[in-house]
Amino acid sequence: MFSAVFEQHWREVCGRPEPPLDDPAFGSGGPLDAHLAALARHRKAERFGGAVFPVSPLYVTSICKERCTYCNYRAGSTDPGLKRVRLSEGELEREVRFLVEERGLRAVELVYASDPLITVDEICRHVEIAARIMARAGHVNVGLSAEPASTEDYRRLRDAGLVFSVVWMETYDPARYRELHPGRQTKADFFWRLESYERMIEAGLEGIGYGVLSGLADWRRDWSMLAVHQRWLRKTYGRGPNILGIPRLRPAPGATYQERAFVPSDGAFRSLVAWHNALFPDVLPFVSTREEFETCLQLAAGGGCLFTLNCSTVPGGYTLANRGAQFVTGNYDAPLFAPRLRASGLEPEWAWRPATCYTVGV
Ligand code: SF4
Repeated sequence: MFSAVFEQHWREVCGRPEPPLDDPAFGSGGPLDAHLAALARHRKAERFGGAVFPVSPLYVTSICKERCTYCNYRAGSTDPGLKRVRLSEGELEREVRFLVEERGLRAVELVYASDPLITVDEICRHVEIAARIMARAGHVNVGLSAEPASTEDYRRLRDAGLVFSVVWMETYDPARYRELHPGRQTKADFFWRLESYERMIEAGLEGIGYGVLSGLADWRRDWSMLAVHQRWLRKTYGRGPNILGIPRLRPAPGATYQERAFVPSDGAFRSLVAWHNALFPDVLPFVSTREEFETCLQLAAGGGCLFTLNCSTVPGGYTLANRGAQFVTGNYDAPLFAPRLRASGLEPEWAWRPATCYTVGV
């Protein structure tokens, strides 16, 4: 297990981050960043030919037992505008139908706060509901963002129709992780989360997403550890995560953690994604509506990424009048923004799957 070798790798990365992240010029907007951007674009374009893979999140619940200090949905959130919501199956169905039948999406990511009353059985039913609606539209690609599960539960989810699952590590810095995730709940268990990628691999999920929330800790170390983790999984299991989450910390009104000291600048952030793209061009960054549309286009240069179009971080945010977002995002409506992607040399491939999109555009 990676947890058995974690300490050794973490010490090495603390001593010296992966080159060229250890270079003071990294992220400064100079020749090093220009070189990385060009290399990443070339490696992505030769493999994907500008194809990008649209996806939308669908929040199912904002009720959370966890206390992640940076999140608006944490238990004890002080956001006066937050109304906790758990969708019924009928409401979930309505949300999926909106995205699939009215907006043309063919990939939907079900997102769950750590709601103590939602079981894996229920998530399996939700996956089945979404898969049934998508099958009528001719293509099924259901994803999941939820707290890490056991291998057996990941197998049950896969059998229910789950195609991909993402778990963001938040930070690989164990001391920072403890500060940011107080208490004794599931999320406080750093190693349960760290080992979730191995459990997803063992369960045979087609798409597996990893990543850090940039802004919680020293990004040179965190992104170095992503590369170390990816290489170790590939060597040990023959495959690593094939989706890269690239969330960058945004202010949340109900959070207790409001510092910005660790947030990478726009230039450093773009170069981090470019560096990972150049190193692992087969891994798909999950281009995020936390960023401005122009930034998303830059991150997507050459293609080979998930591209979030319609986006609400409120359960029922597409078809119900619910309020209280997890964080502020853009909402790039698919029919309006698909032409803008094309105008930028990117081609949305709606009916994608993580295992087969590598051949698109080659
Ligand atoms: S990050 Fe997730 S688990 Fe943590 S408080 Fe927010 S919704 Fe809950």
